[in-house]
Amino acid sequence: MGKTDLYDVIIVGGGPAGLAVGSELSYNHKVLLVDKNVTGRTTKSWFVPLDVVDEKVMPYTYNGVTRFMTETFDGANVSWRTELFDRYPYINEKTLLPHWLEVLKNNGSEVINQCAYVDSTVKDGIVYVETTAGSFRSRLLIDASGYDSPIVQKYKIHRDHDYWWSVFGSIGEHPNGLNGMEVGDYMMWQTFRDTNADASASMAQGRPVFEYEILDENTSFSFVFFLRQERISREVMEKEYTTIIRDEPTTANFHELKIKELKYGWYPSGALSQQLAEDNLVFIGDAACWTTPCGWGMTFILRNYRYFSSQMSKLLIDNKLDKKNLLSVPHYQTHEKYETLLDTIVTHFLSNASAPQLDRFINLFNSIPKILCEKVFTLTITRDEVHVMLKAMLTEFDLMELVHILPKRDYLLVLEEAKYFAEDALVDKMHEVIGFLHQNQSELDMNNGFDFS
Ligand SMILES: Cc1cc2nc3c(=O)[nH]c(=O)nc-3n(C[C@H](O)[C@H](O)[C@H](O)COP(=O)(O)OP(=O)(O)OC[C@H]3O[C@@H](n4cnc5c(N)ncnc54)[C@H](O)[C@@H]3O)c2cc1C
Repeated sequence: MGKTDLYDVIIVGGGPAGLAVGSELSYNHKVLLVDKNVTGRTTKSWFVPLDVVDEKVMPYTYNGVTRFMTETFDGANVSWRTELFDRYPYINEKTLLPHWLEVLKNNGSEVINQCAYVDSTVKDGIVYVETTAGSFRSRLLIDASGYDSPIVQKYKIHRDHDYWWSVFGSIGEHPNGLNGMEVGDYMMWQTFRDTNADASASMAQGRPVFEYEILDENTSFSFVFFLRQERISREVMEKEYTTIIRDEPTTANFHELKIKELKYGWYPSGALSQQLAEDNLVFIGDAACWTTPCGWGMTFILRNYRYFSSQMSKLLIDNKLDKKNLLSVPHYQTHEKYETLLDTIVTHFLSNASAPQLDRFINLFNSIPKILCEKVFTLTITRDEVHVMLKAMLTEFDLMELVHILPKRDYLLVLEEAKYFAEDALVDKMHEVIGFLHQNQSELDMNNGFDFS
């Protein structure tokens, strides 16, 4: 097709969201996918819960997480074999993304690399898209351009509730072997005295966390992450990562790591997925905050892309591409709202609590079933299990202490979810605090959390 032809769909962004949805739509529609870099190459690395991997994606996975561990400098220590699933498979990004790309091309759709979105306008049901490689037209524009979407910015879509995971690390080889580490190990939370000089500092004040996944007998993906409302620069992350893997006494297994490939990026978390659309325009992936509160972006894509694509295809066929119809396609279809309550609390807790508070939180999992941790993060927790978790949290932490950890805007977000427990005796205590907050709302400090002292 030439530049004057009309495509059914133009997709901006050839990451997993753009490619997954693009490959599905290409069976019935003429798709043009553009990427400012090279489509299907990513700086990210994923593991996902087993239940989002169907038989078509399964061949593009290998091994997976089988043991979760945490270890902090001040005494928190938990580890367990995965209980919810036999394994949480690693996605092979070097084969899955090219596979989706091949499907799209084989179906007669087109891809242009080094082609950045510049601007777009909608007139009489046609989207005119300007890119650095020229102008194109389509009936529907799909924004899959990720965390820094220029289209989100153009439409002035606010992300006030989002937190950001800032991640930097590498895929590396261990020339001296794994030295006690096992394939499938996932160190999900390790901290160090050196990087936590001020133990009372929260992650929001700058504390990084070290993590690693052992991918196979010789290879790991290790990284630092920050969970904050700002994105951390690549330079700062790289410096922290290098110090941790080369100098920390407790990371001796990584001191000789041969770095093969850098892996890094930023992705949203902390808020529920949003339904985002305008006339002839719909947002997907990180651009639409297609994620769970704790940031399982790839998981969300794998869980939803087929259903989402089939619904989009119907709208394309019926030519119902106005905002109202586009918004009628649910992005977040499979879960009850209450399932996200703890996930939201925990995400904000991880970001804002001090190091000693986090140690107490992590050690909670030595006294309650560890499977609850997996269930919180995979959004498969039941109502009864939420009660067990809340009870444990309210026994370990004074409610005022918990509320203090959540800044006002996050607290209100959690309240939205907590409404689902409004009639329950367990949260009567929470209601007392809610009443107090509503009465005193205007006097409370917007930025620094609630001070009940
Ligand atoms: C290091 C790291 C590890 C992660 N691990 C996990 C995990 O274990 N499990 C999990 O579920 N999730 C994980 N995530 C989250 C997951 O990677 C993201 O949610 C997912 O990649 C989002 O996909 P996307 O296609 O929406 O965006 P991206 O992957 O960001 O792709 C966006 C694409 O758009 C292109 N683009 C951007 N701007 C433009 C423009 N102006 N014009 C044209 N093209 C443009 C980019 O080049 C890119 O190819 C991780 C993220 C990171 C950074």
